Amino acid sequence: MPKTKGTSQKDKRDSGLRTVYLALGSNIPPRKYYMLESIKALHKWNPDRFRVSKCYVTRPYMGLDQAAYFNCCVSFQTGVSGIELLHTIKQIEDNLGRKREAVKWGVRSIDIDILFMGSDIIDIPDLTVPHYDVSNRDFFLMPMLDLDKTFVNPRTKMLLSEEIEKIPQNSRTYPKAIRTTKLCELNN
Ligand code: ADP
Ligand code: MG
Repeated sequence: MPKTKGTSQKDKRDSGLRTVYLALGSNIPPRKYYMLESIKALHKWNPDRFRVSKCYVTRPYMGLDQAAYFNCCVSFQTGVSGIELLHTIKQIEDNLGRKREAVKWGVRSIDIDILFMGSDIIDIPDLTVPHYDVSNRDFFLMPMLDLDKTFVNPRTKMLLSEEIEKIPQNSRTYPKAIRTTKLCELNN
């Protein structure tokens, strides 16, 4: 990946405040419980400018034979490094009883992924930001667009609204917004 002016291949300790975007997904019941508890834990940890997207029901990615997922995104303002953020989300996943299995894309009570940290670009062994597959996943991009319609992917320099249009049909998960007020109550 070519280096870009104004960005770094390394994680930053003193990044200054920027908006970070996380994706949450669950496909083990009770899905709503896992989503809400994760949102509450993240909000408790970093309430600054905390926002929650709509929640979507999505088909399993790449036609995997799994139950449907719940997906949403949250954003907040923070100065923490990527590694500190990764450590925190792993702790929240563990507290909610996530079992780590060898199977890639296996079923999970809760998966929390870092999509973006402002315009930071991080490529270190444990962490890739922007998320390596963000441009190919409508279940990331759709809730991201709820939070910021004008967001530009700092790696590809494309609007997320353009990226979502380019996803081929066979990798779409057809997110459908669910009618719930609860997931969004922390926006107020
Ligand atoms: P996946 O999300 O791909 O289903 P995991 O949640 O088990 O799988 O994550 C596997 C590893 O991916 C994590 O231990 C973490 O070190 C690494 N990782 C790399 N980039 C990211 C990112 N942007 N967000 C979350 N995890 C990441
Ligand atoms: Mg993950």
